[in-house]
Order: sequence, then C-alpha cells, then structure tokens
Amino acid sequence: MRFDILTLFPEMFEGYFTHSILQRAQDAGHIEIGIHNIRDYAPGKHRITDEPPYGGGGGMVLKAGPIFSAAETVIDGAGSSDIPVILLTPQGRLFSQEIAAELACEAHVILLCGRYEGIDERVRQHLVTDEISIGDYVLTGGELAAMVVVDAVTRLLPDVLGAIGAADSDSFSTGLLEGPHYTRPETFRSWQVPGVLRSGHA
Ligand code: SAM
Repeated sequence: MRFDILTLFPEMFEGYFTHSILQRAQDAGHIEIGIHNIRDYAPGKHRITDEPPYGGGGGMVLKAGPIFSAAETVIDGAGSSDIPVILLTPQGRLFSQEIAAELACEAHVILLCGRYEGIDERVRQHLVTDEISIGDYVLTGGELAAMVVVDAVTRLLPDVLGAIGAADSDSFSTGLLEGPHYTRPETFRSWQVPGVLRSGHA
C-alpha cells in the first residue's frame, strides 16, 4: 500500500516513520510512504502557501493552488484518478479501527494535512474525497493525525506484524478489548502473574 502525505512540515514525519514496525514495513515493501512539501508546489520566489481569508476573521488559510498541484502531481504520477484524497480535519468522520480496516483495503491514499485556520474550501469541494478526524479536539496541524492513520492502517496489512495473526487479536478486531499481558518475572514487587497464565508457561 502507498501513502502520499501532503504537508507543510515534512520533517515532522522523519522520526516516527523511520522506526520500529513502520520502518520495517517499508523495508519489506509492504508500504511506501511519500512525503510532499506543499511549499514546493507554490509558485513564485516566495512560495506562498497561506493567506488571510476573504472576509477576514483572523488567522491564515492554506491556499488552494499549491495543494491542488501537489495532489495532482501524485495522482498523475500514479496514473490513476481514483486515489482517495483524505483531509485530516476535526470536522471529519471519527477515526476508528473500522475506518482503519476500510483504508487498509485501498492500494493508495493521499493524506492532506491542514495547518493554521484550515484550507481553502475549494480544496474540500473539488479535491478531497474523504475527511477524517482523530478525535474531538483541535490539533495545530494534521501531521499527527496523518501519522496515526498510517500507523493504524499499516498494522492491519497482511504480513506487516511479525507474530502471525497479531492484529487479529488486537482490541477492536475481536469486538472485545484485549486482555492484559504479563512478562517475566512471575512475581514483581509482590504482584503475581495470574495463575491461569502461569500454567503451561515455558
Ligand atoms: N479552524 C479549524 C476548525 O476549527 O476546524 C481548525 C484548524 S486546526 C488549528 C489546523 C489543522 O489541524 C486542520 O486543518 C487539520 O488538518 C488539523 N487537525 C486539527 N485537529 C484535528 C483532528 N482532531 N483530527 C484531524 N486533523 C486535525
């Protein structure tokens, strides 16, 4: 599966995507992640990506032009016009394990990270095909939300997790919350691993 992320802050993704399961999933070819700086698609010497909105109201809004250019470059490069373009926004549908599973069926998604007061409405109307919120709170930008989506979707892809079926036993996958886990030692500060788990433990 391929994720293309459109952002004003590409460096923010470096740490999270270059460790642990997400790095291994890339190394193994299970996922590809493209990070695109929206600023690179802004015209002119100053590469302006945001402006005060019509009608005032304070704050800055991401301009439509650079976002369309960035997304269309990805879409043209992929040679497919039916790639979902997902805006991360507090007004979107609330992200869940079910939505993660739904996205895991896609071969390619584009994740658009807003900033400041948000984005030009024409991006929502004419480019975006889905809107996702990671919770009922307002973040400063969509980058954390994009990382959450990539992480939750990636672990659902076939063969990404080392232990066979590990995602099948995750909370929500079974319809139940997963039970507690214990590791050695059997007694830690007088707290014991439950007997039912100790029996048969090698
Ligand atoms: N003025 C906007 C509003 O009230 O809906 C909030 C803009 S927020 C400061 C800047 C960006 O952060 C948004 O465009 C969006 O991309 C991202 N963002 C903020 N909260 C989010 C959430 N709960 N889930 C997903 N993205 C979020």
